[in-house]
Amino acid sequence: MPRYCPLCGGRLVYDNSVKLYVCQSCGAMLTLEDIIRERDRIASLARGGDVRKRDAREYLRWWTSSKRQSEED
Ligand SMILES: [Zn+2]
Repeated sequence: MPRYCPLCGGRLVYDNSVKLYVCQSCGAMLTLEDIIRERDRIASLARGGDVRKRDAREYLRWWTSSKRQSEED
């Protein structure tokens, strides 16, 4: 199932030879753990910090909805 880069939103393709997800847009190489960790980091930004809370929530909603779409194709 396709996944999207938590850094740039580009499409990630799983490379079996290196067992990593490779971003087709920025070239990031990520494990599934990295993807989950980045997602959690964005979620924690949404909960607090110096980011304006409403903007962070909008971003999180965008991120989670783009993930949901990615699981449909
Ligand atoms: Zn990327």
